[in-house]
Amino acid sequence: SLSIGIVGLPNVGKSTLFNALTKNDVLAANYPFATIEPNVGVVGVPDPRLDVLARIFSSQKTIPATVSFVDIAGIVRGASEGQGLGNKFLANIREADAICQVIRVFDDPDVVHVDGRVAPKDDIETINTELILADLQTIEKALSRLEKESRLARDKVKAGALDAVRRAKDLLDTGTTLFAGARAAGIDLEELRELHLLTAKPFLYVFNVDESEMGDEALKEELRALVAPAEAVFLDAKIESELVELPDDEALELLASIGQEESGLAILARVGFRTLGLQTYLTAGPKEARAWTIPAGATAPEAAGVIHTDFQRGFIKAEVVSYDDLVDAGSMTEAKSRGKVRIEGKDYVMADGDVVEFRFNV
Ligand code: GDP
Repeated sequence: SLSIGIVGLPNVGKSTLFNALTKNDVLAANYPFATIEPNVGVVGVPDPRLDVLARIFSSQKTIPATVSFVDIAGIVRGASEGQGLGNKFLANIREADAICQVIRVFDDPDVVHVDGRVAPKDDIETINTELILADLQTIEKALSRLEKESRLARDKVKAGALDAVRRAKDLLDTGTTLFAGARAAGIDLEELRELHLLTAKPFLYVFNVDESEMGDEALKEELRALVAPAEAVFLDAKIESELVELPDDEALELLASIGQEESGLAILARVGFRTLGLQTYLTAGPKEARAWTIPAGATAPEAAGVIHTDFQRGFIKAEVVSYDDLVDAGSMTEAKSRGKVRIEGKDYVMADGDVVEFRFNV
């Protein structure tokens, strides 16, 4: 399954955030036989639709979609040159499907900043520079190989790859990540796929702000602008680590006291899920109401395959009703009599919020 690597300079609140994430680990609750890796936190993606479905279908429990966060230690200036933990850091980050940068905004004289001052823009640049330098090393090697190969055999495929690699080098040389700049520079990321470039992964940012800054819209706007098109999540990691220890009602009270309706972790899970290019469809019955994870654009048989490979192999059809239509109707029977339950075949592309029952041969 896909994972998001958490990176950031020392003392920005990564461990605090990651510990809070793992306290929310849904793996232990729903998959008792799964192996839990110490540096992986599997977090439920909050989805209020599941509780509504559970009421309609009298389901015994709800199971949310999940998103995995991996704690990747060791970014320091010079990581791209293999300093210290540098090499391990780069290898770990290469395995992640998206990169979540934690950026310190909170000010606290008791917590030392590596560069002696809190400067979000500089910190973002420091991290991006390391990732860009690592990519440039990969690019230089690929470039000399591709140049040699294209001299020997002038096939079109290589020409496309060579062009993409040259453009990528030019872009990275300007200090821009591929994630932020590839589209505008006309770079086809597909051509670069096998290079596993770090800055081509989707990015998202967590700004670890002080609770007093949570309501500062001007500050948040300024920070958002720094990282667009990546999404930004604002939270106070210290508060988040307290929230996960509290019963629901007290957690809501604490959130309300800083002007929030939802925890930062909940928002992070949702934004992370979206950043990975994932979407959900829903199933419901007396046993459980459940969100299943599929890549955006998946067809009905592919979606069925997420439940069981046999479902994909033996796929006949899907009975589909949109969540909103089902809730309007109040029951599956009523939705059917209103003509809202569609029969879809193997070419159907799943929409977010489809409530589905699959028919298949075994
Ligand atoms: P890491 O090195 O990035 O993993 O940072 P840690 O999570 O270990 O945090 C470093 C220090 O900053 C710890 O003493 C934390 O308690 C503190 N810290 C983390 N998040 C916050 C925050 O949002 N506000 C304040 N004031 N301190 C924080």
